[in-house]
Amino acid sequence: MARDLRLLPRAVGRLRSLLALGATRGFSAAAAAEPLHVCVVGSGPAGFYTADRLLKGHEGAQVDIIDRLPTPFGLVRSGVAPDHPETKIVVNQFSRVAANGRCSFFGNVTLGRDISLSELRETYHAVVLAYGAESDRSLGIPGEDLKGIHSAREFVWWYNGHPDMCNLSPDLKNTESAVVLGQGNVALDVARILLRCKSELATTDITEYALDALHDSRIRKVYLVGRRGPVQAACTAKELREILGLKNVRVCIKEADLVTSPADEEEMRNSRIQRRVYELLSKAASAPKDINCNDQKELHFVFFRRPIRFIPSENGSTVGAVELEKTTLKGDEVTGRQLAVGTGEFEDLKCGLVLKSIGYRSLPVQGLAFDKNRGVVPNLRGKVLSSESETATVETGLYVVGWLKRGPTGIVATNLHCAEETVASILEDDTKGVLRAPSDLKKHGRAGLVEILEQKNVRFVPFSGWEKIDSKEKTAGQLRNKPREKITTWDGLQRAANE
Ligand code: NAP
Repeated sequence: MARDLRLLPRAVGRLRSLLALGATRGFSAAAAAEPLHVCVVGSGPAGFYTADRLLKGHEGAQVDIIDRLPTPFGLVRSGVAPDHPETKIVVNQFSRVAANGRCSFFGNVTLGRDISLSELRETYHAVVLAYGAESDRSLGIPGEDLKGIHSAREFVWWYNGHPDMCNLSPDLKNTESAVVLGQGNVALDVARILLRCKSELATTDITEYALDALHDSRIRKVYLVGRRGPVQAACTAKELREILGLKNVRVCIKEADLVTSPADEEEMRNSRIQRRVYELLSKAASAPKDINCNDQKELHFVFFRRPIRFIPSENGSTVGAVELEKTTLKGDEVTGRQLAVGTGEFEDLKCGLVLKSIGYRSLPVQGLAFDKNRGVVPNLRGKVLSSESETATVETGLYVVGWLKRGPTGIVATNLHCAEETVASILEDDTKGVLRAPSDLKKHGRAGLVEILEQKNVRFVPFSGWEKIDSKEKTAGQLRNKPREKITTWDGLQRAANE
């Protein structure tokens, strides 16, 4: 009681300053006293940066973050490679955001199943969609559903212990050759995990089942296949340097593929990253490689080849080869990019495992406009638009951030700038009185969300539940000299959260 009384003058002072702020910003005193209830859907980097910037930028904001997983942090937990622990340090910053008294986490809550978009919009002044890209682009070529073909996302989720993929069991024992389609950083991640010495992976947070499967793996050759040339490889220099430096791996690059055209030279003059990538590949093509490990492996960079179809092995149901068409580059007048065009020459690349790493894809939810071609929600600086057409109107109180806003590109930090833009749009709308008009004052925010979830019997996992999971994983990890041993099943996660 005494504590409450001590806090009272400060609370009154804060209320007064909020009211004063409301007066100067031109919205009603009643609205200023009302918290700005915001729900962020998705707890990856885009979601947490949005929450952080909202809490810092608006002292009356109350932010609830919902996520369909019982665990927070999205791609930082299930996307970032286990041998990149430095990239995961950002979760400390996100945990401090979650610890803010004006922020709450509701794990195990699925938009579209446990709660609809219209329910969220009725409950909050602003809803920010930050649920990322949980599906994959498809090649749309024959044989894509053969056994042994996975998207890179599925493979990444598997080794990172995402509960949707813990049963993937990719067969790493039936073949010596794996083909990775695409040459972006995700392609490099999955190739590196296949090739890296297992002793180096053993002390990371890779799941134990993945480590066992990789230990027993017979894969000795990984082919990274790009439809364009070394100048257009989509990876970045740091990641390329890392894979080129793997200690037991011989890198194979055809010198003929390194010949550049005037258009390539022009691209490299305009992009430092492309020039660095090209230089690293050129250096690797000619450099002799030290072999320190007995089980030497090979990494082949295959350029100017596009997949045409997957060919079954003799058993008929598993992939046995990828048919590739040789390509050449042609400038596109509209985009100015050099595009791959087929030459009519074909060849088969034998393999027993294919990882398609051609990009992630976002999924729409009911009640939301969606640009199917780009896989994004149409938006104006993060404000969701009613459609993709020129006559589209702004959906009041609905925002988007991260990969769902701009497509599946960029590193963790890219989401900070993206979140700042979306938060600026929210604050602009709030200042204009768009979000907390008198008719909207009855939005119940957090209390309303809890009521809906309880009515529907949804057992959400609060941040304290995640902390229990976290602690259990870290304890299990200690026994194996790992940062953590991830809990990988839905049941296991829910049990740990409730213990
Ligand atoms: P990405 O960088 O867009 O690369 C996609 C690759 O797939 C490109 O090589 C692309 O070739 C190819 N591709 C697309 N459609 C194709 C088709 N129909 N047939 C053949 N090839 C096709 O995507 P990502 O690798 O999934 O990475 C997503 C984002 O996450 C990127 O921004 C990446 O940098 C980032 N990321 C960063 C890290 C890190 O910093 N360590 C790690 C992982 C991911 P074209 O160029 O010809 O289209």
